[in-house]
Amino acid sequence: MLQNTLLKIEHNMSSLKLQPPEKRKLVEILSYYQKNSYLYPGTIQRHTGASLDESYIFLKELEKIGILEKAYEVICPNCNGTLDIYDSLNEIPDSIICNNCDHEFHPFNYALVIFKVINE
Ligand SMILES: [Zn+2]
Repeated sequence: MLQNTLLKIEHNMSSLKLQPPEKRKLVEILSYYQKNSYLYPGTIQRHTGASLDESYIFLKELEKIGILEKAYEVICPNCNGTLDIYDSLNEIPDSIICNNCDHEFHPFNYALVIFKVINE
């Protein structure tokens, strides 16, 4: 991400309740994320010690200011493998067969919300 984007992110971090050194660390980590890469609430949680809820709220803030967009990661309920990432709910098929374990399921019920970087 570019300096300008990182500055905007720095101003929208209040949901994470971080100390200045932790803020700087998170901004540094985010600087390595490029356009079209995916960010997980769990990644924010791991690097900051914030709760998953706070991490999710933080990413939603970045969605509001046009840096991220929601995406949906489908996980097989049988083997926990990641099958696919969809940019919108409409793209998720009614039924899917896992290419790891051949389990057939309705992916809509097993889609996790993640975030895609749309702004460099
Ligand atoms: Zn599977």
